[in-house]
Amino acid sequence: MFLTVRELKKSFGGIHALQGVSFGLGAAEIKCIIGPNGCGKSTLFNVLTGVLAPDSGTAELEGVRISGLPAHRISRMGIGRKFQVPGVLADLTVMEHMEIALAARETDGRLWRALGWSGDRAAVLARLESAGLADYADQVASQLPHGIKQRLEIAVLVARGARLLLLDEPTAGMTAAETQATIDLIRRINRETDTAILVIEHDMAFVRGLACPLIVMMRGQVLHEGTYDEVRADPQVRAAYLGDRHA
Ligand code: ADP
Ligand code: MG
Repeated sequence: MFLTVRELKKSFGGIHALQGVSFGLGAAEIKCIIGPNGCGKSTLFNVLTGVLAPDSGTAELEGVRISGLPAHRISRMGIGRKFQVPGVLADLTVMEHMEIALAARETDGRLWRALGWSGDRAAVLARLESAGLADYADQVASQLPHGIKQRLEIAVLVARGARLLLLDEPTAGMTAAETQATIDLIRRINRETDTAILVIEHDMAFVRGLACPLIVMMRGQVLHEGTYDEVRADPQVRAAYLGDRHA
């Protein structure tokens, strides 16, 4: 397994956010994590990125333990996280975002070394092209449409050298067209760069469209793993989460 999560537990006072979460993710695999609000999805990502240390249990990336390590070390090991709110720099252009990302990668994240980085405009343009961002190259991030900002942030994580992308509700606030474009981008990144991807998502249209294995979380545990159709057919999942709205 590329990522192995074993019996992760994390409580906040009396709130047991993670109560023994276990699952695996293969190299270059995509899985979607679904589950109701408050079931521990973002806490799981906080543990996988080193924002939080677990109370017990482990997470390993290619057999190397990451749980409990500081966030900057986990980031350098190739785990890139995208938050719900676009994390882009308002005054920088799309091109500049990509230049910084590639410089950070060349210099192993030690940006002071990037001061001497000469840059490679062709490489930057190729990446923008591949991410569908070439038309926006000279626009500053604050003026981009919401969906393009989200797309830029994902492209930046990949350019920085992420081998595992953690996307927390990447399509929140998007139009149907932007959601479809995000599905296409995620598939394309996965296909072209072999990046493994875990996506937390609430939107069942997105989940169905991405057509990847699902992990259903409930009350800090994995309730079920399976395809979209298997998960939808599972009576426990239906009762607990999907309800008749999604029948
Ligand atoms: P989800 O992302 O599935 O909606 P979260 O992982 O954000 O759920 O939250 C799981 C539970 O843990 C919730 O009850 C939430 O209020 C609580 N929680 C999450 N982070 C913290 C924190 N830093 N301090 C206290 N409680 C937290
Ligand atoms: Mg959340």
